[in-house]
Amino acid sequence: MIHLFEKQKRYFQTGETRPIDFRLQQLKNLKAAIKKYEREIIDTLKVELHKSEFEAYSAEIGVVYEEIRFMIKRLPDWIKPQRVPTPLTHIGSKSYIYPEPYGVNLIIAPWNYPFQLAISPLVGAIAAGNCAIIKPSEYTPNMSALLKKMISETFPEEYIAVVEGGVEVSQQLLDLRFDHIFFTGSVPVGKIVMAAAAKYLTPVTLELGGKSPAIVDASAHLDLAAKRIVWGKFLNAGQTCIAPDYVLVDANVKSLLIEKMKQYIVEFYGERPEQSPYYGRIVSERHTERLVRFLNEGTIVHGGRYDIEQRWIEPTLLDEITWEDDVMREEIFGPILPILTFETIDEAIAMVNAYEKPLALYLFSEDRQVQQQVIEQISFGGGCINDTIMHIATPYLPFGGVGQSGMGAYHGKASFDAFSHYKSVLKQTTKFDLSIRYPNNPNALKWI
Ligand code: NAD
Repeated sequence: MIHLFEKQKRYFQTGETRPIDFRLQQLKNLKAAIKKYEREIIDTLKVELHKSEFEAYSAEIGVVYEEIRFMIKRLPDWIKPQRVPTPLTHIGSKSYIYPEPYGVNLIIAPWNYPFQLAISPLVGAIAAGNCAIIKPSEYTPNMSALLKKMISETFPEEYIAVVEGGVEVSQQLLDLRFDHIFFTGSVPVGKIVMAAAAKYLTPVTLELGGKSPAIVDASAHLDLAAKRIVWGKFLNAGQTCIAPDYVLVDANVKSLLIEKMKQYIVEFYGERPEQSPYYGRIVSERHTERLVRFLNEGTIVHGGRYDIEQRWIEPTLLDEITWEDDVMREEIFGPILPILTFETIDEAIAMVNAYEKPLALYLFSEDRQVQQQVIEQISFGGGCINDTIMHIATPYLPFGGVGQSGMGAYHGKASFDAFSHYKSVLKQTTKFDLSIRYPNNPNALKWI
C-alpha cells in the first residue's frame, strides 16, 4: 500500500495530471469505462442491494454521466487563473487566483450507493488534476471488485487506483500522508477520519449522515407530500443518506397524511413489497437485525413484516413515537418511518434544532412565510421545499452537510473546488517602488 502511495506521489510530481487536455481525456476515458461496464454495474447492484435497473441507472450511473458531461463542458473555464481587482494601496500590481490540485487524494466510500459514491468524487479529483486512491466499502464486495477491475483497466495505478478491504485497510490508508481525504460514511467514522487527518493537518471533505426531517404543515399539498416522502424514504430501502429519517407533521393533518402514505406505499411496491422488483434489500443480515429492533417501538400503522435472512423489512410507518425512543436517537438508515406531531411551526423548528444539524431537511408547505422561516431558523446541509432527495441530483447545487452532518461540499463546480487549493498571487511591478511602507520614512505619517 505504501508502495502504491509513493508511486502516486512521484507521478503527481511529474506534472502529467495537470494539463487541461490530459484531464479532459481522462474524464472521457472514465465515461467510456463506465459505458463498457454498465451492464455489470447494474447486475451487481441488483445482486447486492436488489436495486431495480431504473434505480441503478438513475441514482448511480446516470448521475455520474451527468457529472462528467457538466465537468467536461465547464472545466476549461474553471481552471483558468482568475484575475481579481487590486486595491489602490497596491498600485502597480495585479492579483490572480490560481486553482491547483491538492495532489494525492484518498476517497473512502460507503456501501449504500457503492458505485456513485466512489466514482462521483473521482470525477472532481480528475477534473482538478489530482491522483487518487479509492477505498470502496467491504459490505458490497462484488461492487468493490468490479470497481477495481474497471479502474485498473482504465488508469495506470500511479494515477488512480482502487484498494479493496475493510476497516483495517482503511486505517492503514489513513496512516499515510495524503494531501486531501474525501470521506463518505457515518458520523462516528467521520470523527475517526478527521482525527487521523489532524496528525498531518490534511484537509478533509466529510460527507456524513444524521437524522433528516420531513416537516409537513397544515397548508401542505398532502397528496404530493405523501407521495414524495414515500418515494424518498423507501428508495434503496431507506438506505439513502438524505432519506427523510422521520416525519414531523401538524397534528391536525396527521391521519390524512398517514392514509395517503399507506396508499402510495402499496401503489409503488404492491401488497408484497418483498416480491416487487422495485424494492431494495438491506445490505447485510447484521444491518437488518439492527433495524428490526426499532419495530418494537411505538405503533406500527403500516408494514412491519421482515425476513432477516432474506435481508428485507417492509416499508413501515411507526406512529406514537416519542423523542426518547431509540428510533429517534440514531440515524435509522432503513425502511422505517417514525411519525411525530407538532402544534405550531415554532415548536417544530425548536424540535429539529434540539438535534444535531441535519444533512437534509424537507418542508412541505404552501405558506411562503413558513418556508422562509424554516430556511432562516434551521441550519441544515441542503434540502427541498415540497420535495425530497431531488436537490442532490443537480450539478448546480453544491451538496454537503453542516455541523455533524459533514463539512465541505461537492457536485458540479463544488467538486472541482473540493479537490483544489485556490492559490492567491500578487504580481508586483518593478517599474517603480512606493517607499511609503518602509521603516524610517519621514513622509509616512502624512499618508495615514
Ligand atoms: P461507515 O462509516 O461505516 O463506512 C464508510 C467507509 O469507512 C467504509 O469504506 C468503511 O470501510 C470505512 N470504515 C468503517 N469503519 C472505519 C474505521 N473505524 N476506520 C476507518 N475506516 C472505517 O458508513 P456506511 O455504513 O458504509 O454508510 C452509511 C453511513 O454513511 C450513513 O451514516 C449515511 O448517512 C452515510 N452516508 C452519507 C452520504 C453523504 O453523501 N453525506 C452518502 C451515503 C452515506
